[in-house]
Amino acid sequence: MVALQRQLGPHVTVLFGHEQGKYPDGNTVVVRGTSGSVAIDPAMSMRTMVPPLEVDTVLLTHAHEDHAAGVSAVRWQSLKVHELDVAALRSIDDLMRLYGVPGPVWGEMTRMVTERFHFDTWPEAEGMVDGESIDLGGATVRLAHAPGHTSGHSVYVIDQADGPRVVVTGDIDLTTFGPYYGDAASSLDSFESTLTMIRDLRADHYVTFHHKAVIDGHEAFAAAVDVYAAVFGRREQALLDLLHAPRTFDELVADGIVYRAGTRPPLFGESVERRSIEQHLDRLLADGVVATDGQQYWRP
Ligand SMILES: [Zn+2]
Repeated sequence: MVALQRQLGPHVTVLFGHEQGKYPDGNTVVVRGTSGSVAIDPAMSMRTMVPPLEVDTVLLTHAHEDHAAGVSAVRWQSLKVHELDVAALRSIDDLMRLYGVPGPVWGEMTRMVTERFHFDTWPEAEGMVDGESIDLGGATVRLAHAPGHTSGHSVYVIDQADGPRVVVTGDIDLTTFGPYYGDAASSLDSFESTLTMIRDLRADHYVTFHHKAVIDGHEAFAAAVDVYAAVFGRREQALLDLLHAPRTFDELVADGIVYRAGTRPPLFGESVERRSIEQHLDRLLADGVVATDGQQYWRP
């Protein structure tokens, strides 16, 4: 049983995960047309659905573990994601490469995604490209590439002939945590460009995978994107504050700019800080705001 759901027009249903899709759960979107059906990002809560959800196609916004947690519990004919993320669905080692998992925790991370998130390997997974559209009869679902969180991260734009337009934003989740670009396959620059792009995407409803769940109207959505995008600047300022005196990269990572004190995940938190700080430092070095001798960093 899924406790809570919301209908957005004749074809679109949002199945809310536990606590509006708090990690490790998420919000799943189902689109049923007259000739086909899709489920977007089947979350952990799909595993307890009786009878199991049945659709023609499962679409993922990206290949992360929580977005695929329900894939093996849903009945489907095809499984698709943007072509830049498809390798991670076909091989768990490629998922580990997408994360950028350090060698020492490779085995433990593999166990975590397979045992806790039921991540399988799906050799039949298919890649999609920007603009690719699926006609379901009365509703179309179009992939819009929105990279940054992962290189293949995408949003789905759902147009209903006789209903509202809905955008499924995946892990552009608009939470107070802010954008996550801590994987090997993440990019701070791409994430920023993506937020500029998506802010102008007009729709009646926006569905995030975590927490916010459904945002109604473009005005509220654009305001939420602005608050979310401001986190880039806050992290950059946090890094500049750490550089009040010369510091090594490892010292910067020990303090961190992403997780609040005491909230760093034990398994992958350090590598997320490394990847995030590295990208902000590259920018600050290029702009001449920070200098380095190869050992230490400082504000000249
Ligand atoms: Zn994700």
